[in-house]
Amino acid sequence: MTTLFVLSGPSGAGKSVLIRRILEDLPNIRFSVSSTTRAPRPGETDGVNYHFISREQFQRDVEADYFLEHAQFSGNCYGTSRRELEEAGEAGQDLLLDIEVQGARQLQEKGIEAVYIFVTPPSYAELERRLRSRNTEDEAAIQRRLRQSVEDVAHVHRYQFVIVNDNLEEAYSRLRSIFVAERSRLRRMESELNAILASFHN
Ligand code: ADP
Ligand code: 5GP
Repeated sequence: MTTLFVLSGPSGAGKSVLIRRILEDLPNIRFSVSSTTRAPRPGETDGVNYHFISREQFQRDVEADYFLEHAQFSGNCYGTSRRELEEAGEAGQDLLLDIEVQGARQLQEKGIEAVYIFVTPPSYAELERRLRSRNTEDEAAIQRRLRQSVEDVAHVHRYQFVIVNDNLEEAYSRLRSIFVAERSRLRRMESELNAILASFHN
């Protein structure tokens, strides 16, 4: 049984750092590798962080209904392929999506059940500091992302969980707790539980 975990939040909030940690720490989570038209950053690998594709390819994929959701963000296109969800289901893994607010909204409007988590920095000033210290965008792109962040945080009320990423250890501990709690739900425990219950009748 696959549970979808959707993480959104302004660019620079710390989603990637938190995701890296959860993937190293907990078993059976698959990261949903999105398609994007943006250029790879140093250290990013095609097929691992993203599928880096051209605008033409992206448009063809949209027309072929290849995406479960897709959106524009800060001048580039991003989308989640339907295959990601299918493959996680086939592998019996949970799926973790790092997507912006419009994409998350599309999933909600389609009635897709997921754990919707919003990651916010402790303040706008700290977001700006992190975006600059990451050193992956030029000044114009940083400004675009900062402007976009004002819109992003206005959508926080659509989410079920909020993680304030001030102290990284605390934020990570909360994120981990959400995963562990979701995975402890009765419907997730049924197969393990059946064997335990059966042992009471032997
Ligand atoms: P996002 O994926 O949300 O765009 P990143 O994970 O790339 O954000 O984080 C943006 C920058 O902020 C990175 O340089 C990262 O190392 C740093 N960062 C993330 N979380 C914290 C934190 N709690 N305290 C200080 N810096 C952080
Ligand atoms: P970045 O360029 O910093 O990697 O990502 C920019 C924004 O795009 C982030 O908010 C990230 O969550 C979002 N994003 C990444 N992949 C997808 C996707 O497949 N769909 C949508 N809607 N947003 C995505």
